[in-house]
Amino acid sequence: MPRESFRPLRVAVIGTGYVGLTTGVALAYLGHQVVGVDKDQTKIELLRSGKIPLHEPGLSELLQLVGDRIRFTTEVREAVPKSGVILIAVGTPPKENGEADTRFVEEAAKEVALAFLPEHSYIIAVKSTVPVGSNRRVRHIVHKVLEDRGLRDRIAVEIVSNPEFLREGQALYDTFYPDRIVVGAESPEGVDAMRRLYQPVLEQTFDPPGFLPRPDSYTLPPLITTTPTSAELIKYAANAFLALKISFINEIAGLCEKVGADVVEVARGIGLDSRIGPKFLQAGLGWGGSCLPKDTAALLAMGREHGYEMPIVTAAREVNTRQRKRAVEKLQEVLKGVRGRVIGILGLAFKPGTDDVRESPSLDLIRLLLEREAHVRAHDPLPMTMENARKALESLEVEFMADPYAVAKGADALVLATAWPEYRQLDLRKLAKTMRTPVLLDGRNLFDPAEAREAGFMYIGIGR
Ligand code: NAD
Repeated sequence: MPRESFRPLRVAVIGTGYVGLTTGVALAYLGHQVVGVDKDQTKIELLRSGKIPLHEPGLSELLQLVGDRIRFTTEVREAVPKSGVILIAVGTPPKENGEADTRFVEEAAKEVALAFLPEHSYIIAVKSTVPVGSNRRVRHIVHKVLEDRGLRDRIAVEIVSNPEFLREGQALYDTFYPDRIVVGAESPEGVDAMRRLYQPVLEQTFDPPGFLPRPDSYTLPPLITTTPTSAELIKYAANAFLALKISFINEIAGLCEKVGADVVEVARGIGLDSRIGPKFLQAGLGWGGSCLPKDTAALLAMGREHGYEMPIVTAAREVNTRQRKRAVEKLQEVLKGVRGRVIGILGLAFKPGTDDVRESPSLDLIRLLLEREAHVRAHDPLPMTMENARKALESLEVEFMADPYAVAKGADALVLATAWPEYRQLDLRKLAKTMRTPVLLDGRNLFDPAEAREAGFMYIGIGR
């Protein structure tokens, strides 16, 4: 079948956070005409001045490259009327009971429908991670608004689910070279529109930006077309699986410590089995971030709603919480109590490559240490992350320091909490020498234990 030539679309992206901004800038790079909408005025002002309000490698450079193919506004009604495709990428934070709070999605859907013009047709794609049934709910909200406006028969709207799988820190790579694109739609029109939107990615017809070359081994990504319900569940099931893979290796790490095995060797030994795979098998302080914690909680909430227990997902969460506690117990044991001790934390982001501190294991650890009345100093290679951590920890007494060597000076222990590659370059000998007691809890198994011991540290890893 001959390839259809590429026809650019007018796209509105509602929400310019990690997902919306990355997607919007990438779509503009691929040739579409994009408007990014966010109700956060400060973000929009920054974006209009060519700066990005978050840390994502390459995004700033790409924004410069796309020129006027993207613009930004705080007003949905300014962006939507002339757009054929509207992507909803607003946040879906957890409620107290673990359910996903879909309020922002619903608000956005309503505002979008209020901005539709008669005699036009639109596709709304929900990129936010939302529980099963949300697509139906968005459809109901949109139809209700159009009915109230007396325009139900004069505006054609398709609503599709288009879950996002990008990883912060590698978000652009994942957008240009995804493993798959999932579209949940109830009509062929919905699927066609999404196929057109992602055509340059599906066919890899775009010229990659210089800093993000197409990997030689990359093959064309499949477009998975399914029902909105399956699409919604695919996202949750994917994140739950990733979470339990990490929790599994962390559970094994605990046993390694009891029996004298090395979890790094064990993970390599099992990861080389192609049925298992080596990714997400790094033992450490556990998972965090804006997705795995809230999405596993939301999945359990969905199960509960249907009277269905999900013991595997429950256990993955329990192991994850235990992992933080075990780190504190190790410090308690080696320091004979942490009260009044000075503990230095290296790394605040929930993982390297991002300034995101949402549900960061590092911040959980800090809270646990402060509860036990330790003095905490903290460092992250990104000033933006330190700022985010300062806000997240609010009134808690933490000394933020710009120099990791200053964090170590006179400290009773150092905890490596985020596997930033920058930390690998640290002069361990210099660090150990200035500490009161040279204890290193390597919460990410980043260092070579023998090297760290050689440098003068009492080295404690995870599962080794
Ligand atoms: P985020 O908090 O970084 O950004 C959300 C943005 O939406 C904010 O800037 C907020 O001001 C804006 N917003 C909220 N309501 C709005 C409205 N009515 N109109 C305009 N703007 C509005 O969130 P994120 O990390 O980008 O996540 C967005 C969604 O994507 C979530 O559902 C998340 O679970 C999912 N997701 C996130 C990632 C990730 O790595 N961050 C990956 C895959 C999926």
